Amino acid sequence: MASINKPNATDSRRAILAVGSLAFDSIRTPSGNVDRILGGSANYFSISASFFANLKLVGIVGQDFPKAHLDVLAKRGIDLEGLEIAKGETFHWVGEYGNDLSEAKTLSTCLNVFEHFNPKLPGDYVDARYVFLGNIDPELQRSVHKQLKKPALVALDSMNFWITGKKESLLKTLEIVDLLTINEGEAYLLSGAHNILDAAKAIREMGPRALVVKRGEYGAMLFTDHGMFAAPALPLSTVKDPTGAGDTFAGGLMGYLAHEDAGEDIFKDDTILRRAVIYGSVMASFTVEDFGFTNLLKTTAKQAEGRYQQFLKMTKF
Ligand code: AMP
Repeated sequence: MASINKPNATDSRRAILAVGSLAFDSIRTPSGNVDRILGGSANYFSISASFFANLKLVGIVGQDFPKAHLDVLAKRGIDLEGLEIAKGETFHWVGEYGNDLSEAKTLSTCLNVFEHFNPKLPGDYVDARYVFLGNIDPELQRSVHKQLKKPALVALDSMNFWITGKKESLLKTLEIVDLLTINEGEAYLLSGAHNILDAAKAIREMGPRALVVKRGEYGAMLFTDHGMFAAPALPLSTVKDPTGAGDTFAGGLMGYLAHEDAGEDIFKDDTILRRAVIYGSVMASFTVEDFGFTNLLKTTAKQAEGRYQQFLKMTKF
């Protein structure tokens, strides 16, 4: 087992390019309400992946976005050259969870500066080998991908908002990705299937060689040419806010894959991918324990390694 550590800052082979949203989130869960806290897919993803790899962030925020948070990201080795600060307001998402916390109900989505976002990759971003196309308009995801020279592994995340609103465009994006992470409910919505095996088969035929279906407190399932792998979630006594769990999961997963730098060999067998699913689950377990990324930012590599050990112990038989 590898331990969690980061390559040095000049190791660009293992860097991950991540595009996604940086947001203000207003969230209601049974544990309480918060208004305009920091969030967004790229934020959760890159904080999580920064435990394992260097990051190059592509995104857009408005002038209302706090500079102090950008400093927090930069201190974690997240390169912000690809982050545009535009005139206007930052993306704002309002969501609510019921008692089962398994699926967010979107109350409103204000795209704001995202409506006119036209991502241009600066400098050596085009050389990135590991790429995460986080949850944003699938057309923007493709426009980022088009600028890349020779990525070794491209992962994608999306959600019901785009599956229902821009399905044709999302299907085009799916054709160019190697790995998709998606919620169970969204896997059914995307595939039209009624059981997980049919859904996985249909989705993998759309493009991705590997599919990870996220199942909230029930864990995650990996589907590849080598079969399937099921990982539980770590049982926790405190779960306050599941927002960002999916992106934090993707950050741990991609972070570990970039850290191991197996490139296309990742698909030779599924050993590294299986371990990556566990690292994704480890990182997500910290996010859900508090609102936003409060807890994730406080987490140490040692604590994450401790939870990895808990997973090993919990699943060995
Ligand atoms: P998840 O990891 O799936 O819980 O994603 C959480 C993040 O997704 C929140 O912080 C939101 O700001 C962001 N988000 C919600 N809806 C959208 C959307 N339509 N496009 C981009 N980001 C979104």
